[in-house]
Amino acid sequence: MSQTFDVVVIGAGPAGYVAAIRAAQNGLKTACVDNWKNSDGKHAFGGTCLNAGCIPSKALLESSEMFHKAQHEFAAHGIQVGNATLDVTAMQARKSGIVHGLTGGIAALFKSSNVTGIRGTAKLLRDGTVEVSDFDAPDKTDALIAKHVILAAGSEPVELQALPFDRRDIVDSRGALEFSTVPKRLGVIGGGVIGLELGSVWQRLGSRVTILEAMDNFLFMTDQQIAQTAVREFRKQGLDIRLGAKVTGADKGKSGISVHYGDRDGKHDLEVDKLIVAVGRRPATRNLLQEGTGVKLDPHGFIQVDAECRSGMKNVWAVGDCVRGPMLAHKGSEEGVMVADLIAGKVAEMNYAVIPSIIYTWPEIAWVGRTEEELKKQGIKYKTGTFPFAANGRARAMEAPVGLVKMLADARSDEILGVHIVGPMASEMIAEAVTAMEFRASAEDLQRTIHAHPTLSEAMHEAALAVDKHAIHAINK
Ligand code: NAD
Repeated sequence: MSQTFDVVVIGAGPAGYVAAIRAAQNGLKTACVDNWKNSDGKHAFGGTCLNAGCIPSKALLESSEMFHKAQHEFAAHGIQVGNATLDVTAMQARKSGIVHGLTGGIAALFKSSNVTGIRGTAKLLRDGTVEVSDFDAPDKTDALIAKHVILAAGSEPVELQALPFDRRDIVDSRGALEFSTVPKRLGVIGGGVIGLELGSVWQRLGSRVTILEAMDNFLFMTDQQIAQTAVREFRKQGLDIRLGAKVTGADKGKSGISVHYGDRDGKHDLEVDKLIVAVGRRPATRNLLQEGTGVKLDPHGFIQVDAECRSGMKNVWAVGDCVRGPMLAHKGSEEGVMVADLIAGKVAEMNYAVIPSIIYTWPEIAWVGRTEEELKKQGIKYKTGTFPFAANGRARAMEAPVGLVKMLADARSDEILGVHIVGPMASEMIAEAVTAMEFRASAEDLQRTIHAHPTLSEAMHEAALAVDKHAIHAINK
């Protein structure tokens, strides 16, 4: 039997569930179909972000930082705890509790905002109907008729042909969040966001971690002054980061996994107990569309959309990781809001130039806008202001005087073009820069904004002052 809706959303990750809630808030009869399956076989809303990405990784990050502090930092505060020990089962249970609470929260939000949450696998058919096969009985299908369809199918980890996942010793990011013991020797392929975040979690918990990264430049997409400061810190902490290291394959033996890779010095083998493969994600668009719909995919499987997320098929939209742009939860959510508002006939747009990026290592890395390398390439004249956390009172009191804030402003107009941070709580601090850039603030606007003392945000203020060589608590170079 078919059901009719104004809007059917396929996928309940941060792009899809947010689109569904906003559509319902706009008075549209909305359904959201999702087929996420957890390792216990049970369904949960929230997609990768809540179930196996952002949230569980941040839970483990927090736990591992606590453990690291107990071992290495408490003494500096005069606190003696003796030998801190680790209960990985309890740590994982805390993580699961947080995930469970938040995914259950989405089901509750659906209920309170009148979104019909449907568990099942959806496919868009040629005639615009959404066919849903039931989560528990896949042979049972239902048809949903909708005026508008929003595709928010997300992404999945890229698997290396020479190194298939075995879900036990060779794992993707999801498997790496579920180790029940701390691996003695941990290999990570890919020194990108996931490799660094998960590598540093297990390193803090006691693993000897080696990261093999194919590129010669560390974090090539990041401002290189920030990237160089970060890699120095990570290496000081004991992360063995090998750049220009291209992995060609691996063999599993009794004593672990032998990973084969080549760099400019020749061929090498790395012996590890567990291996995380984090070499990127690809759009989860296989089996999403019946042959012959008007929705077009690019050669990498991304759904082709315009600036307002319209696909090539009338009244079919696509948002989040399955379309172009950075694979970030907050980018997907904002696209979801924009599309739900456009469907409701409201004015809505998305500012793709001001999307914050964050890497949740310690210290954290966060940025928004253009890097110094990009400005040089584009021939834009700019001014630079930097301020080190070593000169920030709050950072020193926190025992975290590491890293810097860097601000780039247009040499003529003074408009802020980019802000880059490596340091404590960079993820929270970047919000000020995002707001400033959204309002097209100048460096002077931030210079004249009062920042509370003593806070980390004073480093942002000082970086803005340094743009005009007026920093108070540092030498202006
Ligand atoms: P990534 O693109 O960030 O990094 C993958 C890295 O693997 C690249 O540096 C690449 O050069 C390297 N690589 C590829 N093939 C290799 C090989 N054979 N040998 C060695 N190195 C190789 O991808 P990711 O870390 O897997 O993350 C996937 C996506 O998820 C990204 O788009 C990321 O932005 C997103 N994500 C974001 C966050 C966050 O916002 N904090 C967290 C997790 C994931």
